[in-house]
Amino acid sequence: MVRYRSIQKSFGELQVIKGIDLDIYPGEKIALIGPSGSGKTTLGRMLMTLEEPSSGTITIEDEPLWQMEKKGNLVRASEKHLHRMRSKVGMVFQHFNLFPHMTVLRNVTLAPRSVLRLAKEEAEERAVEMLRKVGLENKLHEYPAKLSGGQKQRVAIARALVMQPKVMVFDEVTSALDPELVGEVLNVIKDIAEDGNMAMLLITHEMEFAREVADRIVFGAEGRIVEQGTPVELFENPQSDRLKSFLQRFR
Ligand code: ADP
Repeated sequence: MVRYRSIQKSFGELQVIKGIDLDIYPGEKIALIGPSGSGKTTLGRMLMTLEEPSSGTITIEDEPLWQMEKKGNLVRASEKHLHRMRSKVGMVFQHFNLFPHMTVLRNVTLAPRSVLRLAKEEAEERAVEMLRKVGLENKLHEYPAKLSGGQKQRVAIARALVMQPKVMVFDEVTSALDPELVGEVLNVIKDIAEDGNMAMLLITHEMEFAREVADRIVFGAEGRIVEQGTPVELFENPQSDRLKSFLQRFR
């Protein structure tokens, strides 16, 4: 579904990603773990075309994200191409970024109406279905200010799901929440993971959650993938000292 190849990324002098290859198979759930500052978010944002790599390529369903080869030359992708590629990816952020002046329902119908150009009724039908999935069908006409952090984050998840992406990036979606609200959001993600053939890239510090949901754990540090494998392999039998000491913090 997704191929990262030889990805490097620098911000000015700072090289954040130092050569990463990663495949995400259709329907696969990958948990990306690692210390803060190791480049996880940057890797996720690239898939959403919010960051460009300094070098390397990313393809989704064998199509490159930014650049297309034409008669041997690399040319930049057109806006139309980017638009189409972006629609394959959904992303949920640490901060929910809901529109405060719109109801829950309008927040979720906005993209289906403006991007997919769905009729109002169809967009609403889809949105209500997604809001039901995240347990918020009774909040359709509320404004975000009236919702808890966990509820806002569930609206943000519904808003991404409604676009029916092939792959979803969840970027530390519980980090900004009060501890008692974390569970409800993780449970919603677990449900989605269970019922879907959608691929997921879960950037998370919730190790128990990663162990339960992910097919594969990828551990990155200092801009490289250090170790990857099944949850049992990585959590029960870590090989590298880097991962062993990282996991100590969660014991
Ligand atoms: P992680 O998600 O693993 O915590 P990030 O991908 O957020 O790591 O960040 C990796 C490094 O890149 C950090 O040192 C961060 O400060 C830096 N960084 C991220 N985005 C930018 C940016 N837009 N400009 C400059 N530095 C950035």
